[in-house]
Amino acid sequence: MKIGCPKEIKPQEFRVGMTPNAVTEAVSHGHQVVVEKGAGLGSGFDDASYLAAGATLLDTAEEVFATADMIVKVKEPQPVERKRLREGQLLFTYLHLAPDPDQTRDLLASGCTAIAYETVTDRSGGLPLLAPMSEVAGKLAPQVGAWTLQKANGGRGVLLGGVPGVGPARVVVIGGGVVGTHAARVAAGMGADVTVLDRSLPRMRYLDDVFGGTFKTGYASAGNTAELIAQADMVIGAVLIPGAAAPKLVSRAQLSTMKPGAAIVDVAIDQGGCFETSHATTHQDPIYDVDGVMHYCVANMPGAVARTSTIALGNATMPFLLALADKGWKQACADDPHLLAGLNVHAGQLTYAAVGAALGLET
Ligand code: NAD
Repeated sequence: MKIGCPKEIKPQEFRVGMTPNAVTEAVSHGHQVVVEKGAGLGSGFDDASYLAAGATLLDTAEEVFATADMIVKVKEPQPVERKRLREGQLLFTYLHLAPDPDQTRDLLASGCTAIAYETVTDRSGGLPLLAPMSEVAGKLAPQVGAWTLQKANGGRGVLLGGVPGVGPARVVVIGGGVVGTHAARVAAGMGADVTVLDRSLPRMRYLDDVFGGTFKTGYASAGNTAELIAQADMVIGAVLIPGAAAPKLVSRAQLSTMKPGAAIVDVAIDQGGCFETSHATTHQDPIYDVDGVMHYCVANMPGAVARTSTIALGNATMPFLLALADKGWKQACADDPHLLAGLNVHAGQLTYAAVGAALGLET
């Protein structure tokens, strides 16, 4: 199969769909890979490394789209990219179609077959192509929160780990899933006093079994949450209710109970955020102040560490990419119901029920 990897064109997107290692694997399976010149630069992969891996470099994205049977990307195709997709072509990337009727319409009109990273599943009911980005965002959260806590950034001027004779900062993580667990591990590793709040008892049992002693767990009742955020130096929002907007767990009125200069890192902002006062920010202008509490609400946190994120995403997409290329999408999806769960669009038909329900379209 001819596999194409264009450069990402969404603003501030530095990741790339295929690493040179992914190219090597695909070539070793007998496939031809065409890569747009400069596609990997944002993630620290130069053109020479793609050539060495066996890719053919093409000057423009138009050529990549025109040549390839399968396009591998990171972000949803932008309007100009959607015009380049053609009937029978396979698209493998994040799509997030439910809130995006324009993209959905264009993909249907193109006649392509689109498999969305975010709806591919695994045996344990998880989302294996979303998890790596949650791991990245979780590990970043205490890092950016620690920066937000610095005095020059409007924070309380508190060091997460304290020093001999000065106690550590108190960190509360709301939601103990993939993001929350990684955030709690890093915050605890930096020496903070960490409590993870969740509503799932099995999840808390698991966290307590594995991480008891590293951080504490608590039930995320309204009362517990209110009490703990009032004592916190940093609160990390990491809840997810699949398919729904994040619940607002901290109201504006509650901010006045928090310490002046405390930091909120609302990782769940891509689902609307779990603090009433959260609104999405960018890497250029990541923080803002509401009632003396500093908010960090960057919606695409993994972009800050594009190289790590690209490699992590590539590790997760690799087996699916190879299955699609080796067998063709029909056989690959017939053999693997988890990959089939990723199929969102085929030949002008919407094939993912939740997207259809969200957009009022037939599936
Ligand atoms: P996950 O499903 O692994 O974990 C979510 C956890 O939230 C679960 O343990 C669940 O029990 C818990 N939860 C649900 N409702 C709760 C409530 N009311 N109170 C307390 N806990 C509750 O999800 P995840 O992969 O950890 O993702 C968490 C959030 O981070 C999602 O909104 C995701 O989209 C977002 N995210 C954002 C970025 C970013 O760049 N901002 C990157 C990756 C993920």
